[in-house]
Amino acid sequence: MRIGALEAGGTKMVCAVGREDGSILEQISIPTTTPAETIPKIIEYFKDKEIEALGVAAFGPVDVNPQSETYGYILDTPKIPWRQANLLGELKKALPVPMGLDTDVNGSCLGEMTYGCAKGLDSVIYLTIGTGIGVGVGINGRPVHGMLHPEGGHILLTRHEDDPEGGICPYHKNCFEGFACGPSIEARWGKKAVELKDRKEVWEMESFYIAQALVDYIMILSPRKIILGGGVMHQEQLFPLIREKVKEMIGGYLNTKELADMDSYIVPASLHDDQGIMGCIKLGLDALNQS
Ligand code: ADP
Ligand code: ZN
Repeated sequence: MRIGALEAGGTKMVCAVGREDGSILEQISIPTTTPAETIPKIIEYFKDKEIEALGVAAFGPVDVNPQSETYGYILDTPKIPWRQANLLGELKKALPVPMGLDTDVNGSCLGEMTYGCAKGLDSVIYLTIGTGIGVGVGINGRPVHGMLHPEGGHILLTRHEDDPEGGICPYHKNCFEGFACGPSIEARWGKKAVELKDRKEVWEMESFYIAQALVDYIMILSPRKIILGGGVMHQEQLFPLIREKVKEMIGGYLNTKELADMDSYIVPASLHDDQGIMGCIKLGLDALNQS
């Protein structure tokens, strides 16, 4: 079986063909410029690939409600040319196969729930901390949507006492993304995040923000596992700092076997950066099964 997978990101579109077991047969990457330029290139790639379905995980906000008139549209994104772009509709016009759609982070969460370290778990959180912060939520093997989809990067947090500036989110002065995304680290410390590796105070503050967010998710969703991906999480020294602070901030209020084993509870993504594209394969498979 050949399933198409499209990881539609703000900087690049990863197009792949995979199989049911999550294996990837072939893959290319196309720069994300404008819909008029980029969408035809995606169609060109998939046109003769003999795929039976296509799964799409897209940057957002994106309308993931199949009942909505704007299902499959990119909504009010900061990437201006993509505002109100009918991504899924354009693909459907050109490629006559069942299609599944979700957000990029829900896609990665689904990838980990299907093929990775969160297999079989009934409640899972997947975060990406990069240019922005996105949070995917999976309950009983399915990504959560609700009225739109979770936007866990914009939860409001308490500012660190040594952080004079506040966050950089144009919508919220004190949100997680504004405090802790890659560009925020760079604005605060005046250097590329990757060049700040040896500055202890940078990662102390970063882990303070990430831990606060995780504690909020833990209290609300009671996840069995929390998976952290994205460029910033390449700073591996963050993991022990985050685990320690989460424990501290929970303050002894919860005592579960999962929390007792922090090294298995708060973990890096397990699929070598293929969790997103593998999630797309699963979205395609599900669409095929429902068709
Ligand atoms: P995107 O979010 O655009 O898909 P990334 O997840 O790579 O892409 O996130 C890019 C952000 O992550 C940038 O702000 C960059 O500075 C930061 N970043 C990328 N690699 C590293 C690294 N090794 N260490 C720390 N920060 C990084
Ligand atoms: Zn915000």
